[in-house]
Amino acid sequence: MDFAATTTRSNTPRHTPITRRLVAAVGGLFVLGVLVAVVALFNIARQLDAQDVRKNFFYTERAVENRITASKNYITSYTYWTTAYEHLNGEVDVQWAYADQNMGKTLFTNDGYEGVFVIDRERTKYAVVRGQHQQTDARAHMDMPLEPLVDQLQAQADLTAPAVRYTLFEGWPAIVTASVILPNDERPRVAPQGTSVLVFVDQLTHVKLRALGQNYGLTDLHLVKDSELAPGQPAVPLDSTGYSLVSRLERPGQHLLWSLLPPLGGALLILALLTAYFFRYALRTARQVDASYDSLERSTQALEASEERFRAVAEAASDWIWEIDGEGHITYLSGRFGTVTGFSDRQWLGQDIEQLLYCDTTPIALWLGTLTQEQSASNLRCSYRDHSGQLRFCRVSARPIIDKAAVVGYRGTASDITDEVAAHAQVQHLSLHDALTGLPNRNKLARYLDDALLAKEHAPPLTLLMVDLDNFKPINDSLGHPAGDAVLLEVAQRLRDCTREQDLVARLGGDEFVVVLSGMEHTTEIDRFCERLIGSLQQPIHYETHSLHIGASIGIAVSRRQGHVPGELIRCADIALYQAKSEGKRTWCYFASQMNDQIQHRRQLESDLRQAVRQHEFVLHFQPRYTVDGRDIVAVEALVRWQHPTQGLLGPDAFIPLAEQTDLIVPLSNWVLREACETALSWPGELMVSVNLSPAQFERSDVVEDVRRVLIETRFPASRLELEITENVMLNDVDGALHTMNALKELGVRLNMDDFGTGYSSLGYLRTYPFDGIKIDKRFIASMSNSSNDRAVVQAIINLGKAMGLTVTAEGVETLAQLGSLGSDQCHEVQGYFLSRPIDKQAFAHLLQDRQALSKTGS
Ligand code: C2E
Ligand code: MG
Ligand code: MG
Repeated sequence: MDFAATTTRSNTPRHTPITRRLVAAVGGLFVLGVLVAVVALFNIARQLDAQDVRKNFFYTERAVENRITASKNYITSYTYWTTAYEHLNGEVDVQWAYADQNMGKTLFTNDGYEGVFVIDRERTKYAVVRGQHQQTDARAHMDMPLEPLVDQLQAQADLTAPAVRYTLFEGWPAIVTASVILPNDERPRVAPQGTSVLVFVDQLTHVKLRALGQNYGLTDLHLVKDSELAPGQPAVPLDSTGYSLVSRLERPGQHLLWSLLPPLGGALLILALLTAYFFRYALRTARQVDASYDSLERSTQALEASEERFRAVAEAASDWIWEIDGEGHITYLSGRFGTVTGFSDRQWLGQDIEQLLYCDTTPIALWLGTLTQEQSASNLRCSYRDHSGQLRFCRVSARPIIDKAAVVGYRGTASDITDEVAAHAQVQHLSLHDALTGLPNRNKLARYLDDALLAKEHAPPLTLLMVDLDNFKPINDSLGHPAGDAVLLEVAQRLRDCTREQDLVARLGGDEFVVVLSGMEHTTEIDRFCERLIGSLQQPIHYETHSLHIGASIGIAVSRRQGHVPGELIRCADIALYQAKSEGKRTWCYFASQMNDQIQHRRQLESDLRQAVRQHEFVLHFQPRYTVDGRDIVAVEALVRWQHPTQGLLGPDAFIPLAEQTDLIVPLSNWVLREACETALSWPGELMVSVNLSPAQFERSDVVEDVRRVLIETRFPASRLELEITENVMLNDVDGALHTMNALKELGVRLNMDDFGTGYSSLGYLRTYPFDGIKIDKRFIASMSNSSNDRAVVQAIINLGKAMGLTVTAEGVETLAQLGSLGSDQCHEVQGYFLSRPIDKQAFAHLLQDRQALSKTGS
């Protein structure tokens, strides 16, 4: 309660230090000042930019106006001229105008007029376009009607005044200046309708505009379509041409901002940091003052809390206090005694303390006698039965009572530790038992064996059985850990049921159990026990809707023969178990000394193989399969070899069985499959590749998924892959194998039954399973020539296979005679040393190349 109160109070701000307020105020002012300065700066920049816009517009307007004025003046010098009037009115004198260069090419080359025309209302009488005299109509070049222009000029009061228009000249904006051609002498006033009109066209090209802009301090004066004008851009429109004149804005305001803001920002940052540093320092000092107040207050609170706590502990204490005299009779018991033990103190006063308390390691009187005056109280664990008869434990502490330098009695406390002892016992139990099954674990087994073998030869004979479950891992993997746990619990129960009270059943971990049989002398007895045990474990285990089948292999060591060292017994049983497993599971095996070497060798090989799988120490050899006439290769079988670091190239028989007994078959097979597909991709054409699958793969992994993954990852077409499966696959799990093979077929691969005739399978199997072909085992082919009976068997298999629509291959063809017989028996395909031995990747690539070259020269 106190603690809670303290916490709440410390959360409430009791002091609101002035320094913090000051920091807030000055910080606020600082931020405000910065804001005002930034706003002012932006205002100035905006005004500067607005001024720039106005100036830009003004000068653009000025530039174009002045160009027009200049053009007007210039045209007047041509039109208000008697000689011109005489040569241009009526029919134009081209010789005078163009050839004599009075109104010819120089108007373009020197004065920059793209068009010079003499027109009247009806026609164009004279035309010079870009300095060239042309017979052309001015209307064809300009995007404006000329009649209204002529009418306007001829109708105006001052005939000498020129007119100006904007138009598109050949698609690009231009200034058109036009004026009536008049004599400037004293002749009587000419009739306006009869006069010709001179037209100058000044196209506003980029070059001209840039030069014009430069004269007025405008950067990049140019034309922009009205539809493409940026909003707010100052532009001088050129009437109906759809274009406006614009030049680049200098934007002095923005320049100012860009040049001022970074240094200003930097300066503000430094200022802010300095201010922050200063106020931090000030704050720390202020906090120290606050803290001193706080700590004072906390000390007071701690004191109060400690008193409270003491009282609470005192009330809750389970200790009781006792005193005895020199004879060990109880002279005093505190009030708590009654509460804890259920007795009244009067029942015990005057009684010997050893009647009440019991210590299993020493008599209490002896222990008390060892205590000295100087010694601080020491503890002894005692037990007693309380009023209700329940066994309780207490920790007793004692000191001698000294009177006139003599010990006249003892005094001490007794603390109840019943719960502590129970918890300790629980921990002990856990450390010696398996948490899942409750069976003794490895520690307990070790202790048990230590005790049981202590008497060595005099001890009763011990038989140690190492039990390993077959088929447990797939259950755990496929149905999950709850299923695995259920199986282990059931197995533990069955093991208990099979054993007697004096035997021990322990779980070492995973699916490994140990049974220690005590006093069983004869092998026949042990055999009978093993038979019963395996039989019991073979019974299906029901889990949810599943009926799970497991089995067990047992390795046996016997103390009379393998000695009385627990570790050695376990080791021997383990070796025997290894042997039992390699003998085909669901069996038991006694340890024999020669197993040591075998096991050693196997273990070494297994560890080498494990490393080989990791480091891909394998290579594939390839053996082609031919049509029975021996001409065409129809498929190529991939056969694995192990490039052993010390033993050289090992054939599959040396390591596939071992890989099958361990989980190594799965990664090895996947490597073979991938390597075969990748190699086959490099061959020309669509040659089929054949890969052997092991029955063990069907049990240990999801073959369909493995094949699918490799096909997808290598992009090898399934139709070029053939899988060779032996009959043994079907022996283990008929339904499961059928299901898997159907799923494999659905991937699009071919299935061949390998080594046909060696297993138990009848031809009937072939009907049920989705095979595409069979390979007659090489043993039949080898004996074909010796015995007519074997020849007949081969013939029968060929005929039957063909009748079922299967491709029939004969393996192991070693002679021309065999090939001949198979040809006359109309076997489909053949494979064997006679045609080609298995060869490595490079040699096979050469073989393919040679055949290709041969077939080309042949054709
Ligand atoms: P298999 O699938 O029946 O392969 C044919 C075996 O017969 C090969 O032996 C091959 O070299 C041999 N052979 C071929 N033609 C002749 C011949 O004319 N005369 C004689 N005497 N033998 C011939 P290899 O390569 O030693 O393979 C033995 C077995 O190992 C294979 O029998 C196959 O079951 C297994 N195997 C090979 N590679 C793999 C693999 O990658 N995975 C699996 N699971 N098993 C494989
Ligand atoms: Mg094969
Ligand atoms: Mg074969």
